[in-house]
Amino acid sequence: MLVSISRVLKRLNRLIGNPLEWTSSAKAMLLGALTCLMYLQYALWGELLLRFNESVYWLDTEHVIAQLPYFYALSLCSFFLTILPPILNKMFGDSYLYEYGATLYFGLSLSYFSFQIGTLSLPVGAVLVGAPVVGFIFFNRKAVVLALLLSLAIQVILSLGSACNFWGYAPMFDANTEWGNAPTPFKVFQMYFFTLPYMIVLISISYLVLRRWRDREEKVRHLSVTDPLTGLFNRRSILLHLEQEQFRSRNKGPVMSLLMVDLDHFKLINDEKGHEAGDYALIAAADALQKCLRQNDRVGRYGGEEFLIILPGTNLEGAKYIAERCRQQLEKTNVVLSNGGQIKLTGSFGLICNEGNVHMQVDELLRRVDKALYLAKHQGRNQIVSVDLVS
Ligand code: GH3
Ligand code: MG
Ligand code: MG
Repeated sequence: MLVSISRVLKRLNRLIGNPLEWTSSAKAMLLGALTCLMYLQYALWGELLLRFNESVYWLDTEHVIAQLPYFYALSLCSFFLTILPPILNKMFGDSYLYEYGATLYFGLSLSYFSFQIGTLSLPVGAVLVGAPVVGFIFFNRKAVVLALLLSLAIQVILSLGSACNFWGYAPMFDANTEWGNAPTPFKVFQMYFFTLPYMIVLISISYLVLRRWRDREEKVRHLSVTDPLTGLFNRRSILLHLEQEQFRSRNKGPVMSLLMVDLDHFKLINDEKGHEAGDYALIAAADALQKCLRQNDRVGRYGGEEFLIILPGTNLEGAKYIAERCRQQLEKTNVVLSNGGQIKLTGSFGLICNEGNVHMQVDELLRRVDKALYLAKHQGRNQIVSVDLVS
């Protein structure tokens, strides 16, 4: 039992990954799902209260009945916000705009709810302080600040408007109850006079601290996944990507291809031109490989002068085409040294596609692609050998 729970948790963990590294559209999607549940909960709250006889004393039942469709409509909007970002991401790519849209939607739609239950109530204050702090950890900071400032301005205007009798206060509740009692202008002034400075200090401190923390976390994360010489993914990181890609391929279907590249006669380059020149050649080889890949492809330094390239959603034919492009690009690369010397590069490629065998373990994939690479070396180097799993 414990084993299966830990297996499910592991699977979930692998599926979710690190939320801080999620795409903007995935973050917007999460906010959409959360608001969808929240607004459904509010609708449920309304439906339940309408069924209690005592509610009539402190609830404006007619107003609640009139507002319930809006509650449902907003949860439907949130549902669309949940499903739209991944579709838009596929069509137009990822962008911070998703986070701006989601945080603004969150702030503005909650302003509507805050008006319904009273802009000076405790829940509204808790959300106004709590949401930005959590938002700074997870979302684009400028998007959070924009949504916060806009929502805060709306709260102040709504509160003052109620106090000056331009519109009602907490129309959900009977005006004679503690909840529905409209504030006086003095009460609004008093509330904001004492609350705003604390809010500004607390939110500013959390903004500054979390900004530093996120910057450092980003730096540490970058260092932990990057090969310092070439700037590509390091061995641990590219293998992790391979595990994830194979897992995704196994569960959702699209095939994946894998290339293993080994530079030819690299020892000779080191021996003839020196180790430093060898390092330059490695950087040039990494740049050449990266140049030939698409946005979703991943390339990492697997060993000394060996690289792994993951080609998600790519069948054998597509992978052969990309491998040939990489091979030619390496061949075209001419490393010019500071002393005027030149280094020509070539590489041998092993290629495997998991078509028809998506359940293969990563170790087995690597073993087979390594064998294909060995064959490419054996057959004279500067060529591609593929392992056809289907036959
Ligand atoms: P083959 O065509 O069979 O692959 O021959 P090769 O000489 O490339 O193969 P071998 O594995 O014998 O040599 C790899 C060389 O790569 C040995 C090592 O000194 C060099 N190398 C590995 N990492 C680095 C590095 O970070 N910098 C430099 N300059 N050389 C490196
Ligand atoms: Mg080697
Ligand atoms: Mg080599």
